[in-house]
Amino acid sequence: MKSSFKLKFLLSYFFLIFVSLGFVAFFLDRNLEERSLQEIKSNLINEASLIERQVSALSPDLNNPGYLDKLSKELGPRIKSRITIIDLKGKVLADSEVPSHQTALLENHLNRPEVIKALNGQIGEEIRYSSTLRIDMLYLAVPLKDNAAFTGVLRLAMPLTSVQKVLFAVRKTIIIGLFFALGLAFVLASVLARGLIGPINRIIHVSSKFAQGDFSRRIFYSSPDEIGRLAVTLNKMAQDIEEKIREIRTKNQHLNAIFNSMVEGVVVTDNSSRIISINHAIEELFNINKVDALGKFFLEGIRNTDISEVINGAIKSAKLISKEIMLVMPKQRIIQVNVSPVLEKDKVTGAVAVIHDISEIRRLETMRRDFVANVSHELKTPLTSIKGFVETLLDGAMDDKKNSQSFLKIIQEHAERLNNLVNDLLDLSYIESREAALELSRLDLSGLAKEVVLAFSSRLNKHKIEVKNNIPAGTFINADRNKLEQVLTNLFDNAIKFNKEGGGIRILSEDLEKNIKVIVEDSGSGIPAKDIPRIFERFYRVDKARSRELGGTGLGLSIVKHIIELHSGVVGVESTEGLGSKFWFTIPK
Ligand code: ADP
Repeated sequence: MKSSFKLKFLLSYFFLIFVSLGFVAFFLDRNLEERSLQEIKSNLINEASLIERQVSALSPDLNNPGYLDKLSKELGPRIKSRITIIDLKGKVLADSEVPSHQTALLENHLNRPEVIKALNGQIGEEIRYSSTLRIDMLYLAVPLKDNAAFTGVLRLAMPLTSVQKVLFAVRKTIIIGLFFALGLAFVLASVLARGLIGPINRIIHVSSKFAQGDFSRRIFYSSPDEIGRLAVTLNKMAQDIEEKIREIRTKNQHLNAIFNSMVEGVVVTDNSSRIISINHAIEELFNINKVDALGKFFLEGIRNTDISEVINGAIKSAKLISKEIMLVMPKQRIIQVNVSPVLEKDKVTGAVAVIHDISEIRRLETMRRDFVANVSHELKTPLTSIKGFVETLLDGAMDDKKNSQSFLKIIQEHAERLNNLVNDLLDLSYIESREAALELSRLDLSGLAKEVVLAFSSRLNKHKIEVKNNIPAGTFINADRNKLEQVLTNLFDNAIKFNKEGGGIRILSEDLEKNIKVIVEDSGSGIPAKDIPRIFERFYRVDKARSRELGGTGLGLSIVKHIIELHSGVVGVESTEGLGSKFWFTIPK
């Protein structure tokens, strides 16, 4: 039997019926035994009184042993009892089952309990085991009297085998009945148990589905009894859990979305620094795969000792720890790591590490610092000169007409440089501020180039530089006119500045699919290969002294780069030292 509840139910039912029927059978049996014994006894008493009357009538003084012997042997078989007649001294005078000549050999009966009672004038009765016959015997003795005087004792003995036979038959019937009743009870109990256990089994089946996480099942049992109420409670519980799970799942999805779209990298570990979760930013920063990293120790999954130390420190100290760390692998980056311990009832159960990539911030900081230093330096040089020459003039040089003229000239040059510098700085900061909204229009590129060349004509003539404008007429671009003019002016200015006497400049364009590539080529000094990568940086100059001498500020190319990038274009340069340079940019059509 599978279900132990059913077994228990059947067994208790069985036990109940067995005990109650057993009680009934036991009392019935007792009662029956007593009653049949009583019946036998009263029969024996009746028979004894009949025989006693006969003896008293025919041989009241018991002096006729022949008669007594005959009487006992005649009546004994009839009443199916042994008849013994004993005198007052205990001597057996006659016995229905002992031959007459042996009667005298029988042992004295005076000490038999039933005999003693009869001699006291009562009816003596005893049940005793007879060792001669090997059965239980019922002995009944009555006094024999001659008028009022006792003359002896009449004893009747009856084997109890018949009583026991009857009792055995009755017991058999009772036991058979008992078994039938138990069998019936078993069948009934099975039927009842099935009715009771069916719904319980259904509840077990459905609740095991609940345990497996399937809360969509319901128990269909609508009786108002206890099991029905249990079913209702379980159904309600499943419904509540289902709703809670749905809620949690939605929240989880939201959290996951936030987690993965975060710019900051997040790593969650347990208290042995085993990775529980990482987000997308971490995968990118460390060039790893989430699936590979989960479940591993931090050092195995992400392989960064510095961060691992911070995490371990936070777990050990149960305090938030922040540290700036330089990453070398897989990319060179500067990161800010903040690790806070996860506490549960004052016990550290894990850690959350939030990693910010602050390389860009640091780069901008450095750039700003350098820029300020550069600007100060660039401003200081002409200012120092101006101050120096003004002091010299004031100290008396003013009177020296010839010198004062040349001093004032130098002061003018430096003031001019300051002016250029400030103008370039203002341009740069305006372009960088992004407030410089582009005023896009359809521009005739070749016309614009012509205008720029025209503006430089006196300088070109002075240095005998020949310009070729190879931009085909009708080349149109979509750009901000003033800004693009500044780009061409700056490039042209450099092409003249760094050119040689009698050199050449060529402006040309290439039609790319969506863009126009504009190239300004010169036959000037060219740029050393090592300087090319940095040439578009602010204040970067190959030869500072020469640039300054030529009135350069070192900002021209960075202005060019900014304007082109504002137009979503790209700038570049190809150059061979001593042979010339080829500056180019692309601009959308
Ligand atoms: P500058 O005011 O010095 O011209 P730019 O930003 O315009 O500043 O240029 C930066 C530096 O790039 C120059 O100092 C020069 O060394 C180099 N350079 C720019 N254009 C040319 C060119 N056409 N030929 C050679 N070198 C150039």
